[in-house]
Amino acid sequence: MTTRESSPYWSDIVSRLDPYVPGEQPRDQQYIKLNTNESPYPPAPGVARVLSEFDSDALRRYPDPESRELIDALSACHGLERGQIFVGNGSDEVLAHAFHAFFQQPEPLLFPDISYSFYPVYCGLYRIEHETVPLDDGFEIDFADYRRGNGGIILPNPNAPTGIAVERAAIRELLADNPESVVIIDEAYVDFGAESAVPLIEEFPNLLVVQTFSKSRNLAGLRLGCAFGQAPLIEGLNRIKNSFNSYPIDQLTSAIGIAALADESYFRDCCDRIIVSRQHVAGELHGLGFDVLPSRANFVFARHRERAARDIYGALREAGILVRYFDKPRINRFLRISIGSNDECEALLAALTRVLA
Ligand code: PMP
Repeated sequence: MTTRESSPYWSDIVSRLDPYVPGEQPRDQQYIKLNTNESPYPPAPGVARVLSEFDSDALRRYPDPESRELIDALSACHGLERGQIFVGNGSDEVLAHAFHAFFQQPEPLLFPDISYSFYPVYCGLYRIEHETVPLDDGFEIDFADYRRGNGGIILPNPNAPTGIAVERAAIRELLADNPESVVIIDEAYVDFGAESAVPLIEEFPNLLVVQTFSKSRNLAGLRLGCAFGQAPLIEGLNRIKNSFNSYPIDQLTSAIGIAALADESYFRDCCDRIIVSRQHVAGELHGLGFDVLPSRANFVFARHRERAARDIYGALREAGILVRYFDKPRINRFLRISIGSNDECEALLAALTRVLA
């Protein structure tokens, strides 16, 4: 429960923070939840086996502070060395450590005006100067805008909440243009059809790629994220982590993460199903009068040509369907809709047909 009251016991910075507001996780009613980009599919079958076979006695001990087994599994999966991998309690934590480790610089951090709304929150927490760089009228990044002095750059790819992706070649150019700064590519949604920047790590010591198990590995409730980069950047993250919480990855999370990584075909199958549903939902939304941005994520960002997004959001909510509405400049006519199961997508489309009739 949050309150608006302040307290004389707070450290100075606490009253100046503007914390992130996550999408609703309601408990009062069974909603169709298409508001936080969770997966509609269960985790890989091996995850349930880990849970049923886990020896609770092992919990007497602290977990491995270096998460070696999990890092070995990630290393095999991505073809990277162990020293090029960092893991944390959700990619939000990994991002927070990365902001702390790399972006407290004399020049401002740059990120798009429309992107993940946690970025300015970390800037507030770690007192990082930042400037937002406007996306163009089609919500695309103009990379020429990033050719200026900066203390770092962060981009989600695909972007959130637009879903629009950029090519690896554009990221390569961005990295080459900014050899003095760390460039973070936040790949929370990359597995749904975008190109990963991981193959650029060998070439660019200033690249950090952040990924998560929350979306394409169907494990948002677990809290597991990771970062990939050359060893000196990973060492920077480890120095922050070991000054904050030595054991961010508990024993169960590690075992579950390894089981999820082991099932490549289940992972690909879930992603493919979401991509197919996304194309279907985008086409149907278009038919219902929406302009839909070209998404490579597990959600679509859509603007009705006539009706107000806030009203549609409210009507869907009454119909038991949650989507995300952002009351923010430039995007307050849009709804962000996560791709659900086939049944959930059909229920959404049927409700929209009724609401818009
Ligand atoms: N990056 C982006 C762009 C996101 O949308 C999210 C999910 N809200 C995250 C990172 C964080 O995901 P998690 O902490 O679940 O790994």
